[in-house]
Amino acid sequence: MVGSKERKIQGIIEGLKKIYPEAPLELRFSNPFELLVATILSAQCKDERVNQVTEKLFALIKGPLDLISIPLERLEELIRPTGFFRQKAKILKGCAEILERDFGGEVPRKIEKLTKLPGVGRKTAAMVLGNAYGIEEGIAIDRHVHRVIGRLGLSKSDQPEAMERELMALVPRSLWTWFSNALILHGRRVCTAKNPKCDVCALRPWCDYGQGINRG
Ligand code: SF4
Repeated sequence: MVGSKERKIQGIIEGLKKIYPEAPLELRFSNPFELLVATILSAQCKDERVNQVTEKLFALIKGPLDLISIPLERLEELIRPTGFFRQKAKILKGCAEILERDFGGEVPRKIEKLTKLPGVGRKTAAMVLGNAYGIEEGIAIDRHVHRVIGRLGLSKSDQPEAMERELMALVPRSLWTWFSNALILHGRRVCTAKNPKCDVCALRPWCDYGQGINRG
């Protein structure tokens, strides 16, 4: 049933809507600043671990000024369980300084401003804008989205930005954040890197891999 790209994306969106009618992020946050911090910490780290760390971190760090004033070693110690903690601590401090200096301590609402922050690419920016502000400026392509989209046969691109552009042309803008979040959940729960559960997958009728196409 793979068919044309338009039919296919419609089938995939309908299938995803049935499984993940709401698709909230698994990262915990209560404001845009917290989501920015949590997303930076989530690089190479499971959301569950990030949530354990941020539970303590957000009790101490309420905004960029707190990040600027906390000693680097103390910050490193607090975020250590998320891995790459030295690099992440530097990124967080760099972000906090720019947020204070250029944006009045607020997380900006434009993707081109957000991507000026250290360690913030289009993926993080789209995720923060969509989930914290409800602003649809992009489709976050993380490793799960990349894998699932490749298997579905919606894009053959290896480059996240090219894949994002292809998806932005196919998916209605009002669904961009939900679509990315739903694919992340699907990639974690069903379309796993090893042994995807095609037998129980609602997207199978629309999926190249599930139909035995392009498995190379
Ligand atoms: S059918 Fe298989 S490969 Fe396709 S999306 Fe579902 S789990 Fe992934």
